[in-house]
Amino acid sequence: MKEFDVVVIGAGPGGYVAAIRCAQLGLSVACIDGWLNPEGNPVLGGTCLNVGCIPSKALLDSSHYYLHVKQDLAEHGINAPGVSLDVNKMINRKNKIVATLTQGIAGLFKKNKVEWLPGKARLINDKQIEVTPVGTAAGEKYTVTARHIIIATGSVPMNIPAARVDNALVVDSTGALAFTDVPTRLGIIGAGVIGLELGSVWNRLGAKVTILEALDDFLVAADRQIAGEAEKILRKQGLDIKLGARVTGCGSNNREVTVTFEGKEGKQQLVVDKLIVAVGRKPNTEGLGATEIGLTLDERSFIKVNAVCQTNIANIYAIGDVVRGPMLAHKASEEGVAVAERIAGKSAHMNYAVIPWVVYTWPEIAWVGKTEQELKQANIAYKSGAFPFAASGRAHAMGETGGLVKMLSDAKTDRILGVHILGPAASELIGEAVLAMEFEGSAEDIARTIHAHPTLAEALHEAALGVDKRTIHI
Ligand code: FAD
Ligand code: NAD
Repeated sequence: MKEFDVVVIGAGPGGYVAAIRCAQLGLSVACIDGWLNPEGNPVLGGTCLNVGCIPSKALLDSSHYYLHVKQDLAEHGINAPGVSLDVNKMINRKNKIVATLTQGIAGLFKKNKVEWLPGKARLINDKQIEVTPVGTAAGEKYTVTARHIIIATGSVPMNIPAARVDNALVVDSTGALAFTDVPTRLGIIGAGVIGLELGSVWNRLGAKVTILEALDDFLVAADRQIAGEAEKILRKQGLDIKLGARVTGCGSNNREVTVTFEGKEGKQQLVVDKLIVAVGRKPNTEGLGATEIGLTLDERSFIKVNAVCQTNIANIYAIGDVVRGPMLAHKASEEGVAVAERIAGKSAHMNYAVIPWVVYTWPEIAWVGKTEQELKQANIAYKSGAFPFAASGRAHAMGETGGLVKMLSDAKTDRILGVHILGPAASELIGEAVLAMEFEGSAEDIARTIHAHPTLAEALHEAALGVDKRTIHI
């Protein structure tokens, strides 16, 4: 029986990062993962690399270029007549990127001497794990022993009885990353992050996209002002977002899907060629044997952990999507690092107050910290500064003048409480705000920092100046 200091279950961004960090710290470590690529080969990287962050961003970038060339370049004096689309090539490019990056993780495991055990893991007790090899690695079951176990089994798409995924006409996010042609009419249930990102991809490529969202408000987690502006821009791009639309049923023949929903105008029907169900994700503990060995789950079936990701069994930790907190790759990875360091005897902490969010629509939506509505609800006195990209020289040069940067800081101390961006490359710009908040910086700190000209980051600088009512360019 193989014995390790640490066995990590799951090789998504939580698990593989935890395994590499454990190895760096001198611990013997194995990582068990049951993911199979479409060819049946075991691959590393989990949801994020195989069917999540990376493939969705590959298609977002490809579709962005397509629309840009088709729609925006003429304004720059660049004529590109006869632009055409090869969806298969686009999908193959995405698949190649996924293959390159997942193989990259295998290389990192080799370099760091992390033992990769392809297979399904089942906890036998607090020290032993049964591994059932899968796919092309299939073989006899075996057992490994660990002093510490890190569970990083991630999440899977949620289902709703009103719209069962058949992986033909009704698909989840994984199916929506692999369409072989552009559906003429595309329906999406859920105007969350996945609905907006994948809706943007197929809308840009020419589909007529209708999104049915049960809630009356758009993108509830975001700052209301930013969400309102984003909603306007996305609608203008052609996304038909129906808020307050409760899906009651769904039927399909071989060609099309009919979705029935209760909307603002009563009972309605939507007929589409493909339907994406994107109503959230749930923790993945299927077949893991978690409750059988006495691990406590919370009321929403997440593995219950304390502030340092320790479960109710002292030598078992859990990280990433399978535990509380935002389902984000960078949150999973940072928890992985913190747990590895804790196991190695270091004191590690994770700052949950400063986790950035990005929605990769265009313009992108990114934020960190508190929204204005959260500050109001908590009765926290704040100051606010905002700067529109329409007043940014660089945004004009790029032809990307939609959106704004908004900064919120404490009324007394000026410490930054939240930064909200709707704009070009917001995913990159938010990094400066995250760093400032991690260092407990003030709006004045950013206001006093020299920003290169002309850059989009100057909008952040101006928003910081705006907190003290001294923006220069508006
Ligand atoms: P996962 O990545 O889900 O990995 C879990 C791994 O555990 C899987 O490989 C699984 O096979 C394995 N596993 C599960 N059970 C067992 C078992 N019993 N035995 C062996 N192995 C097991 N997040 C972002 O931050 N940015 C983005 O842009 C982004 N885009 C996304 C786009 C889409 C379409 C989707 C679906 C998600 C996206 N996410 C994004 C979310 C992100 O993918 C997750 O937050 C992240 O993957 C969670 O990492 P994890 O390590 O916790 O779990
Ligand atoms: P989500 O929670 O972001 O959005 C789901 C949406 O579906 C919500 O707005 C919800 O109100 C709506 N909904 C739920 N049930 C419904 C119903 N019956 N009818 C109509 N609408 C319904 O979930 P998601 O978009 O599926 O994404 C899952 C998770 O994956 C996200 O929470 C996020 O953490 C992660 N993710 C992150 C990124 C990113 O960071 N850019 C991208 C994609 C996914």
